[in-house]
Amino acid sequence: MYTMNDGAALRSRRQAFHLTNRGAAGSIRFRSGHGVAAGGSGIGACAVLGKELAAVTKHIFVTGGVVSSLGKGLTSASIGMLLEARGLRVKLQKLDPYINVDPGTMSPYQHGEVYVLDDGSETDLDLGHYERFTSTPLTRQSNYTTGQIYLSVINKERRGEFLGKTVQVIPHITNEIKEMVTNLGDAETDVVITEIGGTVGDIESLPFLEAIRQIPLAVGRENCMFIHLTLVPYLKAAGELKTKPTQHSVGILRQIGIQPDVLVCRTERALDISDREKIALFCNVPLEAVIEERDKDFSIYEVPLSLQSNRIDELVLRRFGMQARPADLEQWHDLLHRLRNPEHEVSIAIVGKYAEHRDAYKSIYEALDHGGIANRTQVRVQPIKSEDIERDGAERLLAGFDGLVVPGGFGERGIEGKVEAIRFARERGLPFLGICLGMQCAVIDVARNCAGLAGAHSTEFAKNTPHPVICLMEEQHGVVEKGGTMRLGAQPAVLAEGTKSAAAYGVQRISERHRHRYEFNSHYRGALEQAGLVIAGTSPDGGLIEIVELADHPWFVAVQFHPEFKSKPTAAHPLFAGLVAAAVERHAGSAWVAEV
Ligand code: GLN
Repeated sequence: MYTMNDGAALRSRRQAFHLTNRGAAGSIRFRSGHGVAAGGSGIGACAVLGKELAAVTKHIFVTGGVVSSLGKGLTSASIGMLLEARGLRVKLQKLDPYINVDPGTMSPYQHGEVYVLDDGSETDLDLGHYERFTSTPLTRQSNYTTGQIYLSVINKERRGEFLGKTVQVIPHITNEIKEMVTNLGDAETDVVITEIGGTVGDIESLPFLEAIRQIPLAVGRENCMFIHLTLVPYLKAAGELKTKPTQHSVGILRQIGIQPDVLVCRTERALDISDREKIALFCNVPLEAVIEERDKDFSIYEVPLSLQSNRIDELVLRRFGMQARPADLEQWHDLLHRLRNPEHEVSIAIVGKYAEHRDAYKSIYEALDHGGIANRTQVRVQPIKSEDIERDGAERLLAGFDGLVVPGGFGERGIEGKVEAIRFARERGLPFLGICLGMQCAVIDVARNCAGLAGAHSTEFAKNTPHPVICLMEEQHGVVEKGGTMRLGAQPAVLAEGTKSAAAYGVQRISERHRHRYEFNSHYRGALEQAGLVIAGTSPDGGLIEIVELADHPWFVAVQFHPEFKSKPTAAHPLFAGLVAAAVERHAGSAWVAEV
């Protein structure tokens, strides 16, 4: 069974889903401590007693209790999506309790993928959910870690900004956290949703909890809402759901001085009324604010709708004294309908180093699902360790698939397996999408096996290769620090006419996110073009190669950037949609039988 953390995995199970919108139509009204500010679909400033007063941004804090991995990120993203669907302007933010300054240097084995934003910040993968579920622009301000907070406070101390005072967790660290949160509030933002990473009761998250306890003192309790995610486990031996862990978790929050307004109860089984009454009474919340959030065994994209059927958006609006139009969820219903009623089915292999860790390729799994939604296709994804290809051969492991993705990565392990998988895809006409390191491996394959450049390699893995087809750019020489030293973030590229990429994007100029150090070595451009490689996209000045393709192949497209970070369930990335479309065609004409 798939849980909420397992991505939008598909099942053939059909479910009818009924939903009613219960919002009162009309304009949004804000009631602040100072008076009433009213306006249309989002309010900037208003005149009160002749004074311009900015409408107060509301704050929702999402905490988690009992265990980690409850899906706080998905829940925060879903609440954001529902509020946007009602016309509110939302911002999302995650505070992470670990000491790393950012997740950029953390192993994908431990922390899952590093999610890159347009501005180049390397962030937690939950920010991927925020971007997939909402249209809110995320920036450096959207993800802070304990490490960043301390770094900033220590830098201020070194500059003498504390005027000789003793610098302490309270108030200096907590003030810094409060500033990071309240900074997001502005005239263009109705609601800021701040997710606190970690689990209530952990030592590490205490300063964050203390800071959010204090925020209502600064902005008004009526402008803040605490939503606590908790686990209500089913105990087989007793044959019942247990509310005690939730009581304890809320007990810890209340000791800190936080009384949750809403409890979102993650559970495998339906809560009955007596469970909810018990939780409400012991945790001191109204019965209607005890919300059930059951595991979704079909798709994570069901989460917002199930939260809405439990009226979470109504609770938020009521708490803040706001009125908003009914939620417009047509697009969302449509995508779920497409997910539930696929017309085709394809199987796609992801050949990478971290194959056994789904979270390491989180956005790629999601983007493949989006490609499936766009093509009304159920995409079955099979991760394959590239080292297994080295051992067992591509023929044995890849025959039967309809498509191949070779994702990004670092380090030499498994490189030859990736090159071999790409060679197989190239020779057999298997639709292929190469991403970042996957693109570099495609260039290595074409150089070695089509252009006759024996021993061609990337200088990342073979310093003395006779043919450095992938190498460090001049400006990267001499860089020894690992954190934040890559080509990072959104950069423009222009597409060459008549290429598959140009047809897929339907535009000439694109912007995509990068995270790498090494580049296609332009000295080899001519030789590789002669061997059949098509340069389909470059930086606007033509200096950096961004996309390579093969002309006489159904779909062989490899990109130096990370398209997966810009794919949404409601707007599949063109390259993932293109890969799935080619896979569907191959499946229809394939002589091989899929054996997933
Ligand atoms: N290791 C390669 C580089 O640094 C590719 C990075 C990636 O795939 N994100 O260029």
